[in-house]
Amino acid sequence: MTDSPEEALKQLRLRQFLQLMLPIAVGFLLIYIAFAIVLRSTALMGGSVAVGIYTVALARARVLAQQGYGERAALLSGYALLVMVVIGACFVHFLLAGLLMMPIAGVALVLPYAERPGLRRYMIAAFGTDLWVMVVDGLLPPLVEQPPEGLQRVVFALVVVACVGLTLRMLWVDALRLRESLTRAEKAVATRDEFLSVASHELKTPLTPLSLKLQTLQRELLAPASVLSPERTLRNLEIARRQVKKLVELVDDLLDVSRIGAGRLELHPARVELTELVRNAMSRFEAEALRVGSPLELEAASPVVSRVDPSRFEQVLDNLLSNALKYGPGKPVRVRLETQDSRLRLTVRDEGIGIPTEAIERIFDRFERAVSGRHYGGLGLGLYITRRIVEASGGTVVAASTPGQGATFTVELPLGAEDRSEDVSTPRVSAS
Ligand code: ADP
Repeated sequence: MTDSPEEALKQLRLRQFLQLMLPIAVGFLLIYIAFAIVLRSTALMGGSVAVGIYTVALARARVLAQQGYGERAALLSGYALLVMVVIGACFVHFLLAGLLMMPIAGVALVLPYAERPGLRRYMIAAFGTDLWVMVVDGLLPPLVEQPPEGLQRVVFALVVVACVGLTLRMLWVDALRLRESLTRAEKAVATRDEFLSVASHELKTPLTPLSLKLQTLQRELLAPASVLSPERTLRNLEIARRQVKKLVELVDDLLDVSRIGAGRLELHPARVELTELVRNAMSRFEAEALRVGSPLELEAASPVVSRVDPSRFEQVLDNLLSNALKYGPGKPVRVRLETQDSRLRLTVRDEGIGIPTEAIERIFDRFERAVSGRHYGGLGLGLYITRRIVEASGGTVVAASTPGQGATFTVELPLGAEDRSEDVSTPRVSAS
């Protein structure tokens, strides 16, 4: 059994049906048996056998439903209902309308549980049962003597009330279930639409300066040689390169999200010296840190060796560092790398805007943000990807913050390899 709300609602619906139906069946059984004995009625005796079979099947279905076999329980009670109707039609001739209703009620019961071939079989059986009732009770005369008319009317009324009541009840539960599914689907579509508008805006942001810079470069290169300034050209090229880098990062994030969604996030762990890796990452952010006026400080123990996927670990570092600079400009950013027992702990602390307490958990979810898109660009994917990478590596990542005073992100990972043998790969300083 899964714990999805959809599945939980389905199980609830089945249990509700069985809970309601069992006492009703027992009630009918007792009435039939009592009158069969008192009136010595073969018709009611046959009816008792039919209801008896159904009651036993319902009791068994209840056990199956409790054990989590929803489909088997629904099919068992559905087919038992048809068997009851087939036998009942031979004896309780006067119940024609009630007996015709029952297979339809059975379909309403079985519908959400049976897979397509099973459901088709059940529907054919229900249709066959109705044909049988039509022929035996509608066209032919009674096979056995029927009980007195007064009793017929009472039993008929009870059967119809039970059938209609149960069918309406099941349709009501189904309607609620459908409405809940619809609300969830609408929410998902709204989230997707919002994401598409944010994503296109984010992709457009680097594209505009990029195209402007390329136009400028083209103009400069076409101008007379005397006007050409290599410094200005280099500056423009550098700006264009930065915008391309931003675009690549955005597209990489989107690709990672679809990989994670499809369960295809691959890790290639290697034994890596992490202090060096962190230092390299920080050096990649030096220019940006200088631009926003945030000194980067590192506090690290002597070489720390662990088995991690170096490029994915770099991605985690990049996400945390870029956020610290983005949300804490003008204030220092402190990075700390330490080991404790068999775990390594990486802390990235800033003194920026901080995170509202209500958002501290949800910012790790897909597309979740705690700031207005008008003030800070971003897709709300960096921390989602970060958490997925860290968790796939057997670790945890948490945020702590005092709003207005900064945020601290702590990543903990199992060390994996404690010894420092020679085959430790030293990360390259990758150019930013
Ligand atoms: P993005 O920064 O693109 O919005 P992230 O997934 O990296 O996406 O971050 C999600 C949200 O978490 C951000 O929108 C921001 O509200 C909040 N956040 C992340 N890091 C910090 C930080 N260092 N300080 C304050 N808020 C942060």
